[in-house]
Amino acid sequence: MNVHDSEKVAGTLLAKGYSQVETPEEADLVLYNTCSIRDKAEQKVFSRLQQFKRENGRGKVFGVLGCVAQQEGEKIFERAPHVSLVAGSASYTKLPEMLVQLEQGDRRVTGLSLETDETFDTPFTRRDNPYRAYITIIEGCDKSCAYCVVPFTRGPERSRTGESVMAEARRLAESGHTEIQLLGQNVNSYRDPTPAGWDFATLLARVGEIPGIRRVRYTTSHPRDFGKSIVDAMDANPVLCNHVHLPVQSGSDHVLASMDRLYTRADYMRRIEWLKNSPRDMAITTDIIVGFPGETESDFQQTLDLLDEVQYDSLFSFKYSPRPNTSALALGDQIPEEEKTRRLMILQEKQRAIQIRRNAELIGSVQEVLVEGRNQALGQWIGRTTQNRVVNFTAPDARGDSLLGKYLPVRVTRSGPNSLVGECLANVL
Ligand code: SAH
Ligand code: SF4
Repeated sequence: MNVHDSEKVAGTLLAKGYSQVETPEEADLVLYNTCSIRDKAEQKVFSRLQQFKRENGRGKVFGVLGCVAQQEGEKIFERAPHVSLVAGSASYTKLPEMLVQLEQGDRRVTGLSLETDETFDTPFTRRDNPYRAYITIIEGCDKSCAYCVVPFTRGPERSRTGESVMAEARRLAESGHTEIQLLGQNVNSYRDPTPAGWDFATLLARVGEIPGIRRVRYTTSHPRDFGKSIVDAMDANPVLCNHVHLPVQSGSDHVLASMDRLYTRADYMRRIEWLKNSPRDMAITTDIIVGFPGETESDFQQTLDLLDEVQYDSLFSFKYSPRPNTSALALGDQIPEEEKTRRLMILQEKQRAIQIRRNAELIGSVQEVLVEGRNQALGQWIGRTTQNRVVNFTAPDARGDSLLGKYLPVRVTRSGPNSLVGECLANVL
């Protein structure tokens, strides 16, 4: 989502005549797009701001964008006095005006309102990836997970109209993008605000029918709102990729309840069953938080058991990080840092073993790969399967960059915990 936000900012400024430079040293204006989901990400912003200012900051205008901007607001000017612009994600269309204000002599400008209706009106989005494109379908979040800062930094849910999503997807197909990734904090609660009233499953199905689009992915799903109709839509059209990211956070009902996740482990497993019963071979990935306040050894064990039960294809795991404004701050029984680290390592070790086994099962199979890059040094091409697995493969007969953007059959010859190695079926080149 942050990558896509940066694309929107770059496009908005390019359309106003600004030009992009290769390095921050060459720039007159330096914008930092920031994340505040965990404390570490937030701290990094301030250390980078200081470091760059010391080394190369003379004469430049500095701006801070994104969730740290939204969360800290004008306090950023105190902590980093060389910053003159602070704007949250709902204000990006106003950036050109804000920059004019600075040029006219204002020392400091802010864009911190979350009430704007213009969030989606970013027609100038600059996309650097010629094959895969992100489209925001819903902004903000109406859930209130006890650990999460997002509802405070991105505001309440606002769904974009189905018509405008479809128009953008068609434009992207015309410009040669074949893979679309629909984005939102909780795409499952998408609801078209026009009388058409499309739900997420309907939107997904419609985007999958656009001529020229060969793959559609979406992220992220909240399990509570992940309905069977979404699985049915995926079953009906192979353009909708064989992959669902369904963040569970914990395998313990006690922890899920204190996180205010609004589902139980049994509710979650029912959704996993839908996916496992699909005629398609669905990859399932998740997010886990370890060391949430009050998480006992037995709660943690239940999360490990869940990994055994689901056999995830991949997961993101995090140590709980206390965030401003969140309700979890009021909970007692914080888990010591070393204990969080211990749990994280055990969890990651277990998942690594699962991935090694699951990836090894694919040796010998033929996977369709969208080629996205190449590693000249290793003489390999890099692509992804519908399940979002990374495949590094050889194609001895290929010339120049000729394979980029193509969909090719690749036979898997080796596997590791995080990727596959293969060779392109020779007869297709
Ligand atoms: N909207 C998505 C989550 C976005 S944040 C959802 O509901 O699934 C991405 C991930 O960051 C979350 O799934 C969670 O695992 C992690 N995360 C969020 N807040 C966190 C915190 N305070 N500490 C540690 N991890 C956190
Ligand atoms: Fe955060 Fe929960 Fe909303 Fe996801 S659903 S963004 S974790 S509050």
